[in-house]
Amino acid sequence: MSIAQNLKDIEEKITAAAVKSGRKREDILLLAVSKTIDIPRIKEAVALGCTELGENRVQEIMAKYDEIPGVQWHLIGHLQTNKVKYIADKVKLIHSVDSLKLGEEISRRSAQAGRVMDVLVEVNMAGEESKHGVRPEDAQELAAQLGSLPDICVKGLMTVAPYDPVPENNRKYFRQMKELFETIKSKNYANVDMQHLSMGMTNDYEVAVEEGADIVRIGTGIFGARDYGNK
Ligand SMILES: *Cc1c(COP(=O)(O)O)cnc(C)c1O
Repeated sequence: MSIAQNLKDIEEKITAAAVKSGRKREDILLLAVSKTIDIPRIKEAVALGCTELGENRVQEIMAKYDEIPGVQWHLIGHLQTNKVKYIADKVKLIHSVDSLKLGEEISRRSAQAGRVMDVLVEVNMAGEESKHGVRPEDAQELAAQLGSLPDICVKGLMTVAPYDPVPENNRKYFRQMKELFETIKSKNYANVDMQHLSMGMTNDYEVAVEEGADIVRIGTGIFGARDYGNK
């Protein structure tokens, strides 16, 4: 299917899920995940309204940054401290902060770039060995610690739920994320401005929105299956 048709389907599903959770379509950000996708196809999606793009590798943001003007970039994948310097002046939001050490480097490099960086705390809600993110019980303390750094503002939480052919099975994780989000929000820590809950991918974004996600990260659903072989 075409990118245009894919986006039309996704728009309808996000709208329906938003309504189910008492919100409107415009309350939800559709982040187009453009990893491995070539520039012409990304530009096609941008022309159709996808102006915020998610990448999981620093190198890929750097390679695409000048080629695709007029968009905002989000770093959604694991970030190594030694690569923070390359993107501190380029990205709008880092979704994947899971250690104080990484936060310290982001704060330092953001100060050098003359800005404050908005970040999300990545939570490994299902406790999967293979996934990054802090344990749910450690998220609150990390949020508070990150908020104490000079050039970071914590804007919410992010999770990558397990892949499950039955997306309904992830509802419990999304619900727990929302509860954690509200708990941390209620603490009113300095520089912890809980606004965003980044959860839901191609397979499970409808359930995520129903449970309170306000950022969904969708790649395959927009661009089709990724072809790692040719890239
Ligand atoms: C690749 C990726 C996505 C998008 O996955 P799809 O299943 O293609 O929608 C979302 N979030 C993260 C962190 C990713 O790495």
